[in-house]
Amino acid sequence: MTSTTTSTQDALASIPTEEAEVRRLDRAHVFHSWSAQAHIDPLPIVSAAGSYFTDYEGKRYLDFSSQLVNVNIGHQHPRMIQAIQDYAARMTTIQPGLANDARSEAARLISEVAGEGLNKVFFTNAGAEANENAIRMARLHTGRPKILAMYRSYHGATHGAIGLTGDPRRWGTEPHTVPGIVHFWGPYPYRSSFHSETPEQETERALAHLRDTIMVEGAQTIAGIILEPIVGTNGILVPPPGYLAGVREICDEHGILLISDEVMAGFGRAGEWFAIQHWGVRPDLISFAKGVNSGYLPLGGVVLSDAVAATFDDRVYPGGLTYSGHPLACASAVASIQIFKDEGIIENARRLGDEVIGPELAKLAEKHPSVGDVRGLGVFWAVELVRNRQTREPLVPYNASGADAKPMADFAAACKAGGVWPMTHFNRTHVVPPCTISEDEVREGLAILDLALDTTDTYYA
Ligand code: PLP
Repeated sequence: MTSTTTSTQDALASIPTEEAEVRRLDRAHVFHSWSAQAHIDPLPIVSAAGSYFTDYEGKRYLDFSSQLVNVNIGHQHPRMIQAIQDYAARMTTIQPGLANDARSEAARLISEVAGEGLNKVFFTNAGAEANENAIRMARLHTGRPKILAMYRSYHGATHGAIGLTGDPRRWGTEPHTVPGIVHFWGPYPYRSSFHSETPEQETERALAHLRDTIMVEGAQTIAGIILEPIVGTNGILVPPPGYLAGVREICDEHGILLISDEVMAGFGRAGEWFAIQHWGVRPDLISFAKGVNSGYLPLGGVVLSDAVAATFDDRVYPGGLTYSGHPLACASAVASIQIFKDEGIIENARRLGDEVIGPELAKLAEKHPSVGDVRGLGVFWAVELVRNRQTREPLVPYNASGADAKPMADFAAACKAGGVWPMTHFNRTHVVPPCTISEDEVREGLAILDLALDTTDTYYA
């Protein structure tokens, strides 16, 4: 056996250092998510730090996407890197049937921030697996088969999670192959499914619609309602006042569990540990991933209420994963939560939303006719672009591609040319930088967005 240093160097020696070779190997061997493989050309990235990442030509991008809205703590946070290196030097993996110090502490910390009565954590590797387990727990706890999920939701890309997802463009053979899932409409004041004219009306009508759905399906058949407390991928839809409290009430009336999917909205993104805390509502199950450790290592999980957890005191929970509670991933979550507390990261996200991003986006909406709506909380914002403010016709149609998508492609190109990496979805751009971003960096990014919106204005009718 050679020395540790030499063998480490040897083990990584085959990784290519030239951009062209990275691209060639990617094209030859990597099968990418959500893509027609022959039609993509992913940009190779060489390094990242703080709110920025850098390509092989040395061009730096301000990360207004936090990658997939997960790098809440920023890139390469030095204390995170140190913690991972330190823990890895002692141990990397131990199977979930043995106890582990980092896992115990991560579970304690996550329960603590989840709030009263939410004291147990089942760990997964990511968000979709968290939701898979949350709905199984709900079904086993209640003995009922159905789960209600919202249209316009995104809950992940495994079999059950994609069935929960209320977005046809994500479906392959689902939902026909995933039984027991019923979709309903949630609130979306800007494009109300209920033709509401005020947020209050939207709350009232969306709750009436949910009650109708439950009546038709039969309350006794429904195990749980899963929702994103702020819908993320499909538009950063902040619920109108009273909606989530109303859903909680309906759940309580019928013995239905409320599952809060906090995979995207949690861990500081919306300026709270968990977004549902904005409205003082306590769910029965919380699914989380992404921001728990900013994706430095894969980690997700489900927080269980005491009542749901008690179901499995004397009854076997028929589920598990080889990497459930992976020690190194859990150690990174412990470090991340500690850093969040030490550095006031949740408070930073909340302040930036209230004092900088919200007011600045409102100014952009006044200035640019193509901005139809801006909405959000913390560092979780959407700018919705339209061809016409009166008709609210989206700047590009739902599921746009090719020439139809050109206005948003022009917008994204203008952002990138200016040094901002945007997150665009159809007729929206999401402003979702790391929760650690500084006020100066936010302002720098918003100034570039301002310029890029000149391009979308040219399509305004
Ligand atoms: N739930 C929500 C709300 C999400 O936004 C996502 C991912 O974006 C998921 C679940 C799935 O998480 P993962 O991709 O880690 O499986």
